[in-house]
Amino acid sequence: AIDAAHHWHPQTDMAEVNARGSRVFAGADGIWLTDTEGERLIDGMSGLWCVNVGYGRERIAEAMYQQAKVLPYYNTFFQCTHPPAAEFAQAIAEVAPEGFSKVFFANSGSEANDTVFRLARVYWDVMGRPRKKTFIARKNGYHGSSVASASLGGMSFMHAQSGLPIAGVHHIGQPYWFGEAEPGESPADFGLRRARELASAIDRIGAENVCAFVAEPIQGAGGVIIPPETYWPEISRICAEREILLVADEVICGFGRTGRWFGSETFGIKPDLMPIAKGMTSGYVPMGGVLVHDRVAGPVIERAGEFAHGYTYSGHPVACAAGLANLAILREEGLVDRVREDIGPYLQERWLKLGEHPLVGEARMVGLIGALELVRDKERRTRFAEEGRTGTEARELSLANGLVMRATRDTLLIAPPLCLTHEEADMIAERAARTLDDLADAKARAGET
Ligand code: PMP
Repeated sequence: AIDAAHHWHPQTDMAEVNARGSRVFAGADGIWLTDTEGERLIDGMSGLWCVNVGYGRERIAEAMYQQAKVLPYYNTFFQCTHPPAAEFAQAIAEVAPEGFSKVFFANSGSEANDTVFRLARVYWDVMGRPRKKTFIARKNGYHGSSVASASLGGMSFMHAQSGLPIAGVHHIGQPYWFGEAEPGESPADFGLRRARELASAIDRIGAENVCAFVAEPIQGAGGVIIPPETYWPEISRICAEREILLVADEVICGFGRTGRWFGSETFGIKPDLMPIAKGMTSGYVPMGGVLVHDRVAGPVIERAGEFAHGYTYSGHPVACAAGLANLAILREEGLVDRVREDIGPYLQERWLKLGEHPLVGEARMVGLIGALELVRDKERRTRFAEEGRTGTEARELSLANGLVMRATRDTLLIAPPLCLTHEEADMIAERAARTLDDLADAKARAGET
């Protein structure tokens, strides 16, 4: 047995980890994880929404090995670069929406959002509007763990632990129709109402002081909040009208998750900046970055000279080599189109059927990212007691059924690798259905239903 006592598990209480015994994953292939006991489980979360092309890709491992032999490291400061960084930036620009021809490399999603924080302010500075410094983001958004990105994030428990957010960040409501709409309010009306909170916030703070609105196309860690159709067009309109930069955090949605290269394309968002990470390298190496639209990059490059920002490992050659191989796989195997036209709709059909289960208040999915809302009373949408306990219980039952899911409060989340087969999609739906039945049995035994 491996002793995990010296490893501080992220966001987990050590006493709890040791009491329940850590699960130690030792290998993986395709969508399958293998633990040290030899048990194989379906990774229904792609790690943490990372492994878009699936595990065990020799081509990525080989690309990293070859690059490490040739040029394992060099920086991208002081007018220096190297072929992998230049080629990867170009390859990303090729799949990005029109006008995004510049990539600023970082090493994680958190750093990507820190870069956004500084770059957006620099932009308004060079545009002669230095007062535009305030950010507006959303409750339960997640943008990272660094000081600036956790401040942009709207996780109140993170804020409470360390005295965040920093000054100059405001939060508005999330477009969470299932959890927060008024009785009888349609998704369309609710989406508009939530979008207009942005207009009110900007008007309160003064558009002359607001730098950018930052949001994920689909809130991921916040519970896979898929916004009503009315939401993003209204947000885009408000940002354009009031001259606010629109930042679409594509760290989860980017690189195919929603069936387009970027979630912004799925929802018709026209962002100015797109932080990226995760699927950018399918998690084989840590990497992040910001895709910058020409209308922002142009003035900054022209007027600010150098944007004094970057990291020792920005555009790391081995990471870029992995990213290039990852992009080549996504393109050559047509994985993004497949999510939109084939495997996405196939899993969605089965996933949405789970919505008929008595304990499911809502099943939702776009591309290959979805959620189940667990409820005690379907009609009244009432939750079980102690918010979060049922989600954790369901996640554990799912693990016992050989399917890794994640729980946010009492919402179960799913986001499998994009390469899954139809048989594997069937298995996910079957294992999730079995988990719901097991949960119903457990709740009945505990006298909770
Ligand atoms: N943005 C979003 C939307 C995320 O989901 C995450 C990570 N879950 C981040 C940013 C932060 O990325 P990282 O953990 O790589 O810093």
